[in-house]
Amino acid sequence: MNEGASVIVVGGGVTGLSTGFWLAEAGVDVLVLDRGVLGREASGRNGGGCAHHPSPLFCEEQRLWPMMDEILGYPTEFVPNQISITTAPDRLALLQRAVENAERQGFTAERLDAPTIREMVPLTGDNVHGGYHFNYGGKANPHRTVQAYAWAIADRGGRVRQNLGATGFRTEGDRIVGVETEAGVLGCDHLLIAAGPQTGRLAAMLDVTVPLLHARAEIIVTEPLPLMRHLGVDGNGLYGRQTLRGNLAYGGGPHEWIETEAQPGGGRPTSPVTASIARRLVELFPGASHARIIRSWAGVVENTPDGRPVLDRPGPWTNLTVGTMSGVGFGLSPASGRALSQLILQGACDFADLSSLRLSRFDRLEPDWAALQGWLPQVAEA
Ligand SMILES: Cc1cc2nc3c(=O)[nH]c(=O)nc-3n(C[C@H](O)[C@H](O)[C@H](O)COP(=O)(O)OP(=O)(O)OC[C@H]3O[C@@H](n4cnc5c(N)ncnc54)[C@H](O)[C@@H]3O)c2cc1C
Repeated sequence: MNEGASVIVVGGGVTGLSTGFWLAEAGVDVLVLDRGVLGREASGRNGGGCAHHPSPLFCEEQRLWPMMDEILGYPTEFVPNQISITTAPDRLALLQRAVENAERQGFTAERLDAPTIREMVPLTGDNVHGGYHFNYGGKANPHRTVQAYAWAIADRGGRVRQNLGATGFRTEGDRIVGVETEAGVLGCDHLLIAAGPQTGRLAAMLDVTVPLLHARAEIIVTEPLPLMRHLGVDGNGLYGRQTLRGNLAYGGGPHEWIETEAQPGGGRPTSPVTASIARRLVELFPGASHARIIRSWAGVVENTPDGRPVLDRPGPWTNLTVGTMSGVGFGLSPASGRALSQLILQGACDFADLSSLRLSRFDRLEPDWAALQGWLPQVAEA
């Protein structure tokens, strides 16, 4: 088992990579394993949003993002601040609640009226009602960010291996001593499972229950449009960004269930969900109604029963850490990786209270929780 590492991270999405980065930065011998290609799962397919005010990691998320390019040494294309707009008066109250929660944590936002929004976001139209400019949050490029974490790990002497999955674990007493792979068993002093939707399946091999259910979310990308002054504009149930090249990359869901019969076929968009995103994008940005959709993709979002991440060191193991992000993992990754690295190295996080993210909150979860919450898949995946 001499090919292992002091810490083995199973999962090369942003959660595992960020943890690998902070560990390598601290001088730890770390190896990140991914069964596929980095960024092929949700970490490379998301909307790039970095504003999660309900999370205990929110303040650290906001502190770190503006510095990440410098910290990692590679561009993430992070653009700070964002605008949320609404076309319906009743939705403004929802936005206001989010603003108040961020304000309680020391962040500010300005209310915007319709004419100001039309001036700041030229693609909007007469249907805009109002919104907010957040002096926090922002958007980054998911693929650039994955790449930046991976290169930064290598720069610090850490290792990342693609196309090498964990297939099982070796244990001795209350310790995990190795990770089974197609390339043999890799020894470790500590194991982090951060495998996105696969976290529950892998943890179950160690008799640790991580309740997770998966949902499909989709993103569409338009041809490039003239760059707006503000690249991070959400609204109408959509999140996304204008890329530096000018494309609008937007998604919405994942609670849009797909009916197999309703595949329109031919051309784009190719599913009811992408059609819905396209329709809502044109409502949000009437000035983009002429733009063609040049790309679309789906991604799998990992969901815990209460929608909050799990960052924990579950017993009886003395050297196991688990990290899964429940659909908010991209933006939180600088902070979640730092928190997980501290859980691994010192058993606790010194900058955020992670007690609400422990697995024990699910101790009394009903066995049929997914059905009770109405989260049963309605149709089989095509
Ligand atoms: C369409 C979409 C839009 C989203 N928008 C946003 C957003 O705007 N902001 C935001 O914060 N979040 C967003 N999310 C959620 C976010 O992308 C995820 O929460 C985050 O990427 C999770 O990262 P992860 O590293 O935990 O998991 P993943 O990205 O799923 O990575 C897990 C990795 O583990 C690997 N793996 C699995 N099994 C094994 C094994 N046995 N051995 C080795 N490796 C294994 C996989 O190959 C994968 O690379 C979105 C998600 C989607 C799909």
